[in-house]
Amino acid sequence: MSKKGLQTNSLAGWLGIQTPIIISGPCSAETEHQTVTTAMQLKALNRVHLLRAGIWKPRTRPGQFEGAGEAGLAWLMAAKRETGIPVTTEVATAAHVEACLKAGVDVLWVGARTTVNPFSVQEIADALQGVDIPVMVKNPVNPDLELWIGALERLNRAGIRTLAAIHRGFSSFDKGPFRNAPMWDFAIELKTRFPELEIICDPSHICGNRELLPFVAQKALDLDMAGIMLESHITPDQAWSDAKQQITPAAFGKMLEGLIVRKAEVVSKEFRDTLTILREQIDQLDDDIMGKMSARMKISEQIGRYKRDNNVTILQVNRWDEILNTRLAQGNAMGLSQDFVTDLLKLIHHESIQVQQRVMNDKVEKAV
Ligand code: PEP
Ligand code: MN
Repeated sequence: MSKKGLQTNSLAGWLGIQTPIIISGPCSAETEHQTVTTAMQLKALNRVHLLRAGIWKPRTRPGQFEGAGEAGLAWLMAAKRETGIPVTTEVATAAHVEACLKAGVDVLWVGARTTVNPFSVQEIADALQGVDIPVMVKNPVNPDLELWIGALERLNRAGIRTLAAIHRGFSSFDKGPFRNAPMWDFAIELKTRFPELEIICDPSHICGNRELLPFVAQKALDLDMAGIMLESHITPDQAWSDAKQQITPAAFGKMLEGLIVRKAEVVSKEFRDTLTILREQIDQLDDDIMGKMSARMKISEQIGRYKRDNNVTILQVNRWDEILNTRLAQGNAMGLSQDFVTDLLKLIHHESIQVQQRVMNDKVEKAV
């Protein structure tokens, strides 16, 4: 039970396992062979608690594979029979819900393109009225926490108790190296507001590529998320949807071996929750500071190159005075001590000069 309107039970508890909950399977069920073979290879890892496969696929552009439809449900159920692992798929309409309930799908999820639309979410909630089935809700494509919470509430009010959230990143102009910007703050805020709600991270849709998957998965575990949903495929390069981000079950197994599940220090639950949440906020801010420092030094490098090519000295006292004065005033207004801001700026300035010096030396060395 948790505060502020959501009364949820644990999905891990429902599955009878300890967190992290591990969910995997193809982006889409393409054929019976692909669905069942992927599932058997995942079963061999002995780590997967829930099999996923998309049956109805919301594609951004028309003319692409839009899912196998109800035929795919039969393949998903065959995968369950072969492996004994419960199965989950995405529902976007009442008809999808009914087909899944009829087929015996164990867990449903609401996709990111559906969470944005309260009409669609309500339609799903109405179709689930009085049904006891766990539902996972992906964050909406746009970074709007209220929509995400609203979808969870609609399902909760329809009587769905075993609810989890899935963090799959957000559409953003500034995505960085990701397909969908993770914007971890949203997941942290959701957890702060509903400490009992399990949040599962979906690194596949955050990354959109294979290289970043382990980093995002580890970050999710470090933020104490309750699980990982990751797309896997027997022949990822040939996948009919999201080929670039899928990996083989064996590669997923290797990735899982490399992930570190840290134990939060358990003193009392209240202590753990408060401290964990505060530390997560610190980690997030440090992450931002590191990113900004790296960006700042890269600009120093560019300035160094520009000065070098124009034969200008590295140190320009006026500029340094200007930096010091404006930042000291700003820091003061933000409640930072003068000593701290001065030391920090000196350190940054020193490193910045070193960076520019290296650029100059480079040229000298090349000339020699
Ligand atoms: C998916 O899980 O394959 C999917 C369509 O995800 P999302 O709703 O996060 O885009
Ligand atoms: Mn996908």
